Amino acid sequence: MNVVRLTAPFAGWAMPIDEVPDPVFAERMMGDGIAIDPIEGVLRAPADATVIMVAPTRHAVTLKLANGAELLIHIGLETVALAGEGFAALVADGQAVKAGDPLIRFEMDEVAERAKSLVTPILIANEGYAVTALAAGTVAAGAPLFEVSAVGATQAAAPTSEDSASCEVVIPMANGVHARPAARIAAALKPFGAEVSFAAHGRTANARSTVAMLGLGLRHGDSLLILARGEDARAAVTTVAALIESGMGEAGEPPAPVAAVPAPRGATTAAPGFAVGTAFPFAIADIVVAEVGHGASAERTALEEALAAVRAGLAEAKDGKGAEIALAHQAIAEDPDLIAKAQELIAQGKSAGFAWRAATRAQIAAIEATGDRLLIERAADLKDIERQVIAAITGTAAAAPTLPEGAVLIADELLPSQFLALDPARLAAIVTARGGPTSHVAILAASAGVPMIVAAGDAVLGIQPDTAMIVDADAASLVVAPDEAALAEARQRVEKGRALHAVHVAAASELCRTADGSRIEIFANLAMPEEADRAVASGAEGCGLLRTEFLFLDRAEPPSEDEQAGIYADIARRLDGRPLILRTLDIGGDKPVSYLPMPAEENPALGQRGVRLSLARPDLLKTQFRAILRGVPAAQCRIMLPMVVDATECARARAVYDEALAETGLTAVPLGVMIETPAAAMLADTLAANADFLSIGTNDLTQYALAADRGNAATAAMIDGLHPAVLRLIAAAVDGARKHKRWIGTCGGMASEPLAAAILIGLGLDELSATPAAIPALKAVIRRLDIGECRTLATRALAASSAAEVRALAAQAIREAA
Ligand code: PEP
Ligand code: MG
Repeated sequence: MNVVRLTAPFAGWAMPIDEVPDPVFAERMMGDGIAIDPIEGVLRAPADATVIMVAPTRHAVTLKLANGAELLIHIGLETVALAGEGFAALVADGQAVKAGDPLIRFEMDEVAERAKSLVTPILIANEGYAVTALAAGTVAAGAPLFEVSAVGATQAAAPTSEDSASCEVVIPMANGVHARPAARIAAALKPFGAEVSFAAHGRTANARSTVAMLGLGLRHGDSLLILARGEDARAAVTTVAALIESGMGEAGEPPAPVAAVPAPRGATTAAPGFAVGTAFPFAIADIVVAEVGHGASAERTALEEALAAVRAGLAEAKDGKGAEIALAHQAIAEDPDLIAKAQELIAQGKSAGFAWRAATRAQIAAIEATGDRLLIERAADLKDIERQVIAAITGTAAAAPTLPEGAVLIADELLPSQFLALDPARLAAIVTARGGPTSHVAILAASAGVPMIVAAGDAVLGIQPDTAMIVDADAASLVVAPDEAALAEARQRVEKGRALHAVHVAAASELCRTADGSRIEIFANLAMPEEADRAVASGAEGCGLLRTEFLFLDRAEPPSEDEQAGIYADIARRLDGRPLILRTLDIGGDKPVSYLPMPAEENPALGQRGVRLSLARPDLLKTQFRAILRGVPAAQCRIMLPMVVDATECARARAVYDEALAETGLTAVPLGVMIETPAAAMLADTLAANADFLSIGTNDLTQYALAADRGNAATAAMIDGLHPAVLRLIAAAVDGARKHKRWIGTCGGMASEPLAAAILIGLGLDELSATPAAIPALKAVIRRLDIGECRTLATRALAASSAAEVRALAAQAIREAA
């Protein structure tokens, strides 16, 4: 066979070999071929072949093709330095493989993080073969890649005499004779006619063949015998020995494994993402105000005019998250207590600015004294209005900085209005020393797609302007002033992330099925009407959780039935006929509202929250049921109750629902319950007998199962829905649902995690409801899964003893499905 056609060993981005960012490959010193920047972590055989050798560090493999060509596939660049970490060989030397057989599995993230690049050269390492590229740009695994044709091997010149020479050297290169030094040795021998071979570890190899040299597995400190025969044997040996002893720029001790960049203490992800940019410290001093006023009447007028101007500005925010936050800010600018306090100070002779600042600061101090994390995050809103009103009183123009391209904005804390004044297109990321992940500015950043880390500590305030930064908001970690290599790698990660996301988004609108055809519904969790558009564009097949409390928070009184009906109808329209599961009001506990004063509770998470509060205020519940029935077409509509413990609560809520139904005369819709308490999971069969469907809220289920507060930084590391205790509760809930042939889904944060998907599907869930941004990647992972393998994995996970063990099992299963 003269011509062998090779297929892509993994999906990714194919490029000509001369675009590989490494001259050894780009200048074809190793041979001709093509390169792929992979988007999956399993390398497969590109043709039927025999494995010549898997590198001892498992980052490269050589194959003998049917036409005698020797194929080298080198995963990533400078990956030899990882010393095998992150790579697993799936074949042995000498093994025959078929096209598509898995050869090497590698941890994409780990390798990408630690190596120079994931770009993988795929090339013919021996002479006498021509290569014709068949691919460029995006390639799927198994798609045609290039053809290799035998064109008559050119032999090294036969020795003209029997002169021989030898020399022993010790390998000084930190990573031994890996692909790059081997290529340089072979290139250095080109001018010589002598036959040169290497002997080490009891084996010999042709020093003109990179593949053969790699087969010796020469490591740092090994001794190597160079042997040559022929007229110029001596010169050849001297040249190669000198080249090796020079260390080829790689002399040194084998590198210690690279330590991961430590996350700043307490740093927390507020908006996900990964970015590269330059530091833009952003500090705003308080606007200076005089303490003494110019007469109470003039100061009162100044305050009233300033408040009116700020309210008018807020009223201009028309839609989106900005409008909802403006609504909350309106309430502050109209707050009677705050205004009364300021007026009181003005009456005592203080200036309007001084009085307003003193009034808001007193309020902020009172909030901070509560120690309530969520309330404290809301204090930023007060600071924002304080600043806006004082700016209006003093005529100080709002400071809207002009950001450089790719700015990493660093601030002590960022206020919502300051964020809204920035150009998000120029903002690479935000890092704040303080602040919390559920603050309004965090919501704004997430919605604008700007990665954000909060609570990074005061050290970040010392970062100098224009310092290069890598911000990994997903891991809540930062690299300040990275070296060129780290920067180049990070830029590549950004690019690759974009490309991968584009591939996933392109396929996201198709209904989700596992590789064996089992249908899994992928819905979205929504908390704002506008999110529905993004969810649909991201491939959501419905809404699995509408957190209706967004309508009830940050306002002075509850929304009317009409207002609710209008907004529910709007969301249903945006979903364009897709199912919409509306959760009734889930406030109390960690989501307090001002117009429903509740006595202070020692353990609010165990207090009057969710359906308990609704049953205590059936008037609110009935209004909500009526609004839902009126607003959402019955064919689309499902309603579910939060924080249920047993069927009694379900029956009481159903009685209120029946009244709403009778009063409106509208068509009945399914009424389900959330499984968020261990009690509900254990009683799922009796709940399923009384409810039309079940949906597991893994956020609360995890905190209650593991007795770990989901809002407490000290217990954050314990909160893991993949803990076997939580999984056993989920399994019990699925059993209960099945007993009554009920649909069961999940809508907690765990459903957004691709790693959890295989287990959740294996446990038997019909639906996963995720955050919209997670949907394309989630669908891409599920499409690779086999339902039988998911079930096996779930069984093993249920028998595990810790969350870490489950994570390892799940990671392995996802890798194998790649
Ligand atoms: C949950 O608890 O998993 C859930 C979806 O509800 P929330 O996060 O809104 O409490
Ligand atoms: Mg919940």
